[in-house]
Amino acid sequence: MRCSKLYAPTLREVPAEAEVISQKLMLRAGFMRKSAAGMYTYLPLAWRVLKKIENIVREEMDRAGSQELLMPIVQPAEIWQESGRWSVYGAEMFRLKDRHNREFCLGPTHEELVTTLIRGDVRSYRQLPLSVYQIQNKYRDERRPRFGLMRGREFIMKDAYSFDRDEEGLEASYQAMYKAYEKIFTRCGLSFKPVEADSGAIGGSGSHEFMALAESGEAEIASCSACAYAADIEKAELHPIEAPFEEPLAVEKVLTPDCKTIQAVCEYLHLPVEKSVKAVAFKCDKGLVLCFVRGDHEVNEIKICNTVGASELEMADEEQLLAAGTCGGYMGPKGLDSDKVIVVCDATVMKMHNFCCGANEAGYHFLNVNPGRDFTPAYVADIRLMAAGDPCPHCGAPIIKARGIEVGQVFKLHTKYSKALHAAYLDEAGKEQLMVMGCYGIGVSRTMAAAIEQNNDKDGMIWPAAIAPYHVIVVPVNSKDAPSLAKAEEIYAQLCRAGIETVIDDRNERPGVKFKDADLIGYPLRITVGPKTLAAGQIEVRERKSGAVHFVPAEEDLAAAVKELLKTL
Ligand code: ATP
Ligand code: MG
Repeated sequence: MRCSKLYAPTLREVPAEAEVISQKLMLRAGFMRKSAAGMYTYLPLAWRVLKKIENIVREEMDRAGSQELLMPIVQPAEIWQESGRWSVYGAEMFRLKDRHNREFCLGPTHEELVTTLIRGDVRSYRQLPLSVYQIQNKYRDERRPRFGLMRGREFIMKDAYSFDRDEEGLEASYQAMYKAYEKIFTRCGLSFKPVEADSGAIGGSGSHEFMALAESGEAEIASCSACAYAADIEKAELHPIEAPFEEPLAVEKVLTPDCKTIQAVCEYLHLPVEKSVKAVAFKCDKGLVLCFVRGDHEVNEIKICNTVGASELEMADEEQLLAAGTCGGYMGPKGLDSDKVIVVCDATVMKMHNFCCGANEAGYHFLNVNPGRDFTPAYVADIRLMAAGDPCPHCGAPIIKARGIEVGQVFKLHTKYSKALHAAYLDEAGKEQLMVMGCYGIGVSRTMAAAIEQNNDKDGMIWPAAIAPYHVIVVPVNSKDAPSLAKAEEIYAQLCRAGIETVIDDRNERPGVKFKDADLIGYPLRITVGPKTLAAGQIEVRERKSGAVHFVPAEEDLAAAVKELLKTL
């Protein structure tokens, strides 16, 4: 490729809305352009990277025994109604109608479509196990599309689905995919960590997320400082904390004027914060939910959703609190009407004695409240958000927190969809059995963004060779110097012949401009051809990542030397 022809329009100024480095660099280096919020055109350089990631994904999926197919993006509403998800998927689903007024959606995921496909074609145990995958655009009308390709509304996903006869088969399919994911992200040059993930309504220990470690990541990871435990913070389990035993004392109602936060209350009453209980109120399809945790703890909304069976939570407003017999800043579990509110207490709260909490009356708190004696919640569960320093649920050592970008997730679906959509087969005895399923996603476009988040410096991107748009750029330093130009062309032709993906900067630009653009785009190797090196009989090869410069003698095989270097990058 010649730079004079390459459609990679670089920008001097990055649009102000660009928040993260991958987004800024992809706009600046002419990798992509925005068409609408969360929707982008991939320009040629980005498309080359994406195809490389896709090919790595393909190779490892094929190797793991999955077969590639392609399903429609537009899916009929009926199959979603049959699974029950048409009504619960909510605003994230792009919906449309055809000319006959029939309803469709743009696939946010394909469990329904693949399950109805397989149920039509697979009848016997002999046809199982079966695993299929596709690489395709997915559509989700995200509440907050942002960070460029990290959270798009149209994005490229690899989605795979496994169908097995039984749980044992699912376990084997899951392990094969897990291993394939480790290979894929390693080959893409990512620094990543598989973590235990929330498996929502399905429950069980059935899901892992693959997290590319990056400060800009939207996900929080809890990992143990001593053992191998690592989990998405959404899922990280916490055992209840035992408080030292105390004889229960009589409840006292005390005036706490202008003490709207738990810190203010504790200061006013000279209480340690661990002796207090605070509340967060949500509304959801199940009603008004009041959640109570120890004063110094935070609530975990995902755990709350799973506990009460809600799909989404919204903050409750004052009016709803007043109607339920309480008020903001003074909520407490004692004296609430279970017909009006769903009370959820963190398991640690149930181990506390003589604690302080709101009296459900503006300006007042209770002292010496005791669980059991003074209140009985509808739910007791682990609803707390893990914090740094909390004990690891496996070994008790302190937890460390980090941020990550979820680039993939593997999930044991068991019979959730085969049951709802009746995907069954006949076993050896001729008896009907439900297929046992798994699903496995990789965000291909998000993986490209994650690779940039992890590999960049002040000058631009630094591509790992395996997914670089091109491997080498040949830069003739002086566009006026005929011998340099001729030599650069010769090297360019030679490398192309050897199958090395090479670009030549044949533009009539100053060397500074060429070097800047080469660094911005992040080609792993830059070959600089100038009168000085020519005279010395050497070719200068510079590594983008380390800045290391190698001199290859003119009589040596340059292509072979470049191939050797690329293996290390
Ligand atoms: P998130 O929690 O980040 O919203 P998710 O758990 O809803 O993601 P999955 O349904 O597991 O996503 O989709 C599989 C993969 O697709 C994810 O692991 C992620 O890499 C990618 N992905 C999901 N949503 C987006 C998006 N809006 N933009 C880009 N990639 C996405
Ligand atoms: Mg996920």
